[in-house]
Amino acid sequence: MSNKKKIWLSSPHISVESRKYVDEAFDSNWIAPVGPHIDRFEARLSELALNHSVVSLSSGTAAIHLALILLGINTNDSVLCSTLTFSASANPIKYLGANPIFIDSERESWNMCPDLLLQAIQSEINKGKKPKAIILVHLYGMPAKMNEISKIAKTYQIPIIEDAAEALGSKYNNQPLGTFSDFGIYSFNGNKIITTSSGGALVSNNKKLIDRAKFLATQARDEASHYQHSVIGYNYRISNVCAAIGLGQLDVLPHRVKRKREIFNFYKNSLSDISDITFLEEKGKCFSNYWLTTILLERNSTIDINSLRSYMLKNNIECRPLWKPMHMQPVFSDCLSYTNGVSEDLFKRGICLPSGTNMSLQDLERVVNTIREIYEA
Ligand SMILES: *Cc1c(COP(=O)(O)O)cnc(C)c1O
Repeated sequence: MSNKKKIWLSSPHISVESRKYVDEAFDSNWIAPVGPHIDRFEARLSELALNHSVVSLSSGTAAIHLALILLGINTNDSVLCSTLTFSASANPIKYLGANPIFIDSERESWNMCPDLLLQAIQSEINKGKKPKAIILVHLYGMPAKMNEISKIAKTYQIPIIEDAAEALGSKYNNQPLGTFSDFGIYSFNGNKIITTSSGGALVSNNKKLIDRAKFLATQARDEASHYQHSVIGYNYRISNVCAAIGLGQLDVLPHRVKRKREIFNFYKNSLSDISDITFLEEKGKCFSNYWLTTILLERNSTIDINSLRSYMLKNNIECRPLWKPMHMQPVFSDCLSYTNGVSEDLFKRGICLPSGTNMSLQDLERVVNTIREIYEA
């Protein structure tokens, strides 16, 4: 093992601003899943999300779960979901006893392939079972083919939940991701572009639905002086302390996006002469927050992602394979999927480079030099 400092994939990057807000929360004794910092956090998020209504929650997973409940998803319903994603996109479908149907990727953005989506909808309708919702992921901050997918969803009247957990600060056609559809969700987990340690948000332009989400997220208490319940509730609200951390993080979000994009450009420029390496890049109307810089290795190269990853690890640098597609996961082995081989190919050849905004120039140079050592050996 190397005795060099560990370089992480994407570690939390807390700003001094957060401490100020957390001190306020402590001083005012709002140490609860209710309080003024939650209200301010939601107001600020709303400004970033086209003034949509916002409820902040304990996690992005909770946000997806509530969105599915609000769409009326029930036992045995089908929900279409991107296959190349983190399991949290799909797990809430199973919480409700519904069935995920996984849709493969297209090569440009690595996100849901519109052609396969259309094929899946038509063939499921032919089987007599129209899917009830679409969970569309913007992976690694890269916008999915929003125009095409929105059009298909509209034609067949199927609501979309945009999983923008990794895509806060990204835009498509200059519009923030998470605001194109019936629902958008964000995550503020420790590894995301901004963090509240753990947290998430659900956004929608339908205020009534967000009010209902708030109600469900606070144990579904009916209006009464005693505790009265007519439906099953959840304990899904964010803590006021976490929201205070989040306020400080929102202060620096523009800097984080700028820095992530600089990191991407640094890697791209520094490795451009290695023809074995290609980058996932924004195209057309896409603006990515480049949450993680991701590369693909050439198919027939002697260097594969396993040899690259273990060499980096030996040098105390963390690299990760891409998310393993959901249709390849043991837990979802009984689920339907519409595949074209793209996500499996990406999974075989793709790797995420350290992209933390708290990395120094020396850290970035160390990553680049270590990769160069492998190719120049
Ligand atoms: C992180 C993540 C989630 C879940 O968010 P949590 O806040 O960790 O529950 C969902 N989808 C994707 C694509 C993610 O990366």
